[in-house]
Amino acid sequence: MSRPVLVWFRRDLRTEDHAALWHAAQTQGPVVPVFIVDRELIAELPSDGAIFDFQAACLQELARRLEALGAPLCIRYGRVEEVFSVLFQELAPRAIYYNRDYEPYARSRDAVVERLARAWGIEVKSFKDHVLHEPWEVATAEGKPFTVYTPFYRVWRALAKPEPFGEPERLVGVPGLQSEDLPTAERLSRKREVPTWAVEPGMEAARRRWERFRRGGLLHYAAQRDFPALAEGTSRMSPHLRFGTISIRRLYADAVALLEDPTLPAEVRTSVEQFLAELAWREFFQHVLWHFPETPQRSFRRWMDDFPWEGSEEHFRAWVEGRTGYPLVDAAMRELKQTGYMHNRARMVVASFLVKDLHLDWRWGERYFRSRLLDGELAANVGNWQWAASAGVDARPLRIFNPVLQSKRFDPEGLYIRRWVPELAALPLDYLHEPWRMSPQEQARWGLRLGRDYPYPIVDHAERAARFAERFTQLKRHTETRRD
Ligand SMILES: Cc1cc2nc3c(=O)[nH]c(=O)nc-3n(C[C@H](O)[C@H](O)[C@H](O)COP(=O)(O)OP(=O)(O)OC[C@H]3O[C@@H](n4cnc5c(N)ncnc54)[C@H](O)[C@@H]3O)c2cc1C
Repeated sequence: MSRPVLVWFRRDLRTEDHAALWHAAQTQGPVVPVFIVDRELIAELPSDGAIFDFQAACLQELARRLEALGAPLCIRYGRVEEVFSVLFQELAPRAIYYNRDYEPYARSRDAVVERLARAWGIEVKSFKDHVLHEPWEVATAEGKPFTVYTPFYRVWRALAKPEPFGEPERLVGVPGLQSEDLPTAERLSRKREVPTWAVEPGMEAARRRWERFRRGGLLHYAAQRDFPALAEGTSRMSPHLRFGTISIRRLYADAVALLEDPTLPAEVRTSVEQFLAELAWREFFQHVLWHFPETPQRSFRRWMDDFPWEGSEEHFRAWVEGRTGYPLVDAAMRELKQTGYMHNRARMVVASFLVKDLHLDWRWGERYFRSRLLDGELAANVGNWQWAASAGVDARPLRIFNPVLQSKRFDPEGLYIRRWVPELAALPLDYLHEPWRMSPQEQARWGLRLGRDYPYPIVDHAERAARFAERFTQLKRHTETRRD
């Protein structure tokens, strides 16, 4: 038998339209799909056990599919270099193929593996797969990275996009390879606090959900995407994109195909364009992280790292537990805690609240989000948190979301609040968004005692927002004067 190609799976747990697997299959020789569980890396991640269970379920389905195609998945535990050294000895592969990852940690890990492989005389091939355009493919006229979304989007949208590859018809495997257990939360001794998943794991589930969305929600996306109570208002593809159970090429190709119909109603055309613009946000933040790899630790606007954060643990706990006294904030935080997902509009509101009402460092929120979100990933999470904190890229400097106005506008019937904050479910709409407006008599009438059954607001929004704006403006002015 000829020497095999190792296909290293990481955050691309699928067989359909997988660049590295597809190219390995084209060699016609034996293929060994490998997944490595690096306990040292895992120890550093904030992720809840539910996220590992989600990944394990995706891996289980992947293993079944690879076996059916002819090349069983080989799962190994250990440090990546050590596992590869063992596999090099065991299998004498001729090459390693993998899909590129743009996070700082992944980049340095991949460089180590590449050096190791070359030292063994093993070829290394990496592929574009996770994005439509790699961070260096989109650039300003001067060849520089973009730091504002809109011009990035214009250039990104105009570039020709790669087509999906499909699934290999069959693979030639290597018989008798030893593989270890699935890395479930239990196997990794990781506590599981998020009880359910908002999204089903695996490529079949991704495909089903996407098919339903592209025939339904996508057509009304522009009008519906901002309403957290609508389960079908957005695609919920983010956990699938995070674990690679569906490809970005597939989503793009299917969505853009709709635009080819000249009779497409204007509302649908706008919706599809809006959806493509969201996919571009994902790539914009990959672009930013690749060009500015220090941003997970430091604000893009450096001077924001001098902001006088208050650091109240008590306020942070109230935010985490969904007990701030602001119903929309609390509904969203409870949705996250119970399902590992939160709607985008709600993410913007709770992030603004943490930073601009509670005056807590955006990094606290970023880490907590990554510990709970099934779609939690460094680029999108850091990028969006910095955006929400007015500490990141993008032009408009100071946005402060009013949690009551957001609630009235985007949960007008209170369905989202009633679902996630059941103690408020019986309140009439008049009070649902602002329960503190109820007199003691009204509280008695509706069977809710504030301060006992549901908290009074832990801060006064108007006062805190004004104080944030003042401190922000002062700091900005101070920085600009110093610079002059
Ligand atoms: C504070 C904050 C933190 C966030 N953290 C993450 C994160 O860790 N991982 C993550 O994938 N998204 C993150 N987002 C972006 C966004 O909220 C989610 O991508 C979206 O809610 C996922 O739901 P969906 O798949 O139904 O989105 P849809 O509306 O159906 O959008 C389709 C896809 O576009 C991409 N997308 C949409 N909006 C954004 C955005 N603002 N930034 C980047 N990509 C976007 C996602 O890949 C999404 O799956 C964050 C947003 C905020 C405000």
